[in-house]
Amino acid sequence: CATLSITMEEVKPTFDVDKAAVLVNEMRKTFSSGKTKSYEWRMSQLESISKMIDEKEKEIIEALHKDLSKPELEAFLSEILMTKSSCKLALKELKHWMMPKKVETSMATYPSSAEIVSEPLGVVLVISTWNFPFLLSLDPVIGAIAAGNAVVLKPSEIAPATSSLLTKLLGEYVDESAIRVVEGAVRETSALLEQKWDKIFFTGGARVGRIVMAAAAKHLTPVTLELGGKCPAVVDSNVNLQVTAKRIIAGKWACNNGQACIGVDYIITTKEFAQKLIDSLRSVLEEFFGKDPMESKDLSRIVNSFQFMRLVNLLDEDKVSDKIVFGGQRDESQLQIAPTILLDVPEDSLIMQEEIFGPLLPIMTVEKLEDSLDMINRKPKPLAAYLFSDDEQIKSKFVQNISAGGIAINDTVLQLTVSGLPFGGVGESGMGSYHGEFSFDAFSHKKAVLYRSFAGDAPTRYPPYTPGKQKQM
Ligand code: NAD
Repeated sequence: CATLSITMEEVKPTFDVDKAAVLVNEMRKTFSSGKTKSYEWRMSQLESISKMIDEKEKEIIEALHKDLSKPELEAFLSEILMTKSSCKLALKELKHWMMPKKVETSMATYPSSAEIVSEPLGVVLVISTWNFPFLLSLDPVIGAIAAGNAVVLKPSEIAPATSSLLTKLLGEYVDESAIRVVEGAVRETSALLEQKWDKIFFTGGARVGRIVMAAAAKHLTPVTLELGGKCPAVVDSNVNLQVTAKRIIAGKWACNNGQACIGVDYIITTKEFAQKLIDSLRSVLEEFFGKDPMESKDLSRIVNSFQFMRLVNLLDEDKVSDKIVFGGQRDESQLQIAPTILLDVPEDSLIMQEEIFGPLLPIMTVEKLEDSLDMINRKPKPLAAYLFSDDEQIKSKFVQNISAGGIAINDTVLQLTVSGLPFGGVGESGMGSYHGEFSFDAFSHKKAVLYRSFAGDAPTRYPPYTPGKQKQM
């Protein structure tokens, strides 16, 4: 990319791929020693991570700026604050999460008691992505530590400044015998994937998700796959238009400039209402990012030239390029594309087939709002689906008929801030979930334990199975 004027770092792999087995053995030794299982060890590591975030906030924000030009406040809210709250919640709730949960017993076991005991899975691998490279690396690691595992983190090579900062900071703050960072790209990740892990937690795209799952299958390793998809937002005509426009923009451009797994991918509204919605989006976009958004400091840039070209190709497809109703400017030297709205692109265009993961927003129109359900259901199940409406019947229909990882009504993205809600996909948007106690569960085995005394020994249970015994039942 000759015109590129942004200096981009490259990730320097920190380990020799031939030593992957050695690394896993070292971690297994630590896990077998039992140290990661104690409540005190888990608390001390979580406290260190919390301290690290407080003390190194400036460095973290700088790394995010290098990798994505992430605006400072956006970086603080969506990466630092979110990771901190995750850590705080684990510190507050850990004792409760670790406690065995009593369950009712059956007639056959009378008298007895039973409980579910959460035990760590062992040595786990977390593979992360580049769009929220701090949050999406540390958040699963927090869950893995809370659950008492030894953990290896492989951040994304596409956010190299954050990747190397994570290596440096975790090296300083946490117990390296049980928590390690491995930097690298495909070669390093492939070497890690050949090893036997007790759990693999992967955040990324469905293509690599399949590679991860195939590698895990060889060792019968369980996986959580946090993938992506095309997240729709359906907009009714009875909405508060100003609030709706703000919240759509917050869940698209103010969210890493559209490079977000639960960001709004496309909108569906009625033919009648489309122009009003476009006018409102246009006026709020100008209010947020100015008359020339290419100059705005409040928009992240596109992460690299590969992603930039991928987005430009979506925009320049023949059947799409004349559908732009707002924006469309691009500057390769700054890796920037302006917030762009398109109206009624063909459903078979690339932009409506692929996950967009960038600042382009197609608006699709339907005759009746109910038709939007069919349009969504014709596609693979998304990670998130949004509805803006004041109509209780439509809301209920949407929740009942749309299968998605999660749903937010009259907002975007904020469902992920509710720690009581599981965060994860369904179908092609992934499997398994995390956040809050779900993170602890994602890295725990739920062991079933039954306690009996020597009383209550019913003879009907034992051979010989005489007809008399059968009659007693
Ligand atoms: P990606 O799948 O290309 O990369 C993710 C990770 O896999 C990286 O660490 C990378 O080094 C590794 N990797 C890449 N190719 C590999 C290969 N051939 N073998 C082994 N490892 C390999 O994804 P990405 O481009 O980093 O992220 C974009 C995707 O992630 C989007 O689909 C987005 O929706 C999804 N995503 C999901 C979530 C979520 O929480 N569900 C969050 C952010 C992003």
